[in-house]
Amino acid sequence: MKRLTAKRKLKRKCIDCNTNFKKGDIYYKAREVFEEDGCVYANEYVICPKCKWKEEKHRERFEKFQKSCEHPEWAIDTRYDYIPGECVKEPRYDYCRLCGTIL
Ligand SMILES: [Zn+2]
Ligand SMILES: [Zn+2]
Repeated sequence: MKRLTAKRKLKRKCIDCNTNFKKGDIYYKAREVFEEDGCVYANEYVICPKCKWKEEKHRERFEKFQKSCEHPEWAIDTRYDYIPGECVKEPRYDYCRLCGTIL
């Protein structure tokens, strides 16, 4: 994530809170690369310092929680998926609904 200063009013808004950036405002530019169906896509977005901070705190908290999660039995769910080419679902894996960990 790159820290930048707006040289003029930006056309793009904060991805989270829709804040406009005026000249002189600090903003962050991030590049997200993801893969879908074997193709690689890159997505660029801008985010304001406030949302960036919130996002980091949120991620930190979640990671901490994920590490300490004991995956209680009531939170375990089974993910079902269609068998390719058939209309039947079969169980794929068990996962914890609290933290998303695949067990
Ligand atoms: Zn924002
Ligand atoms: Zn868990």
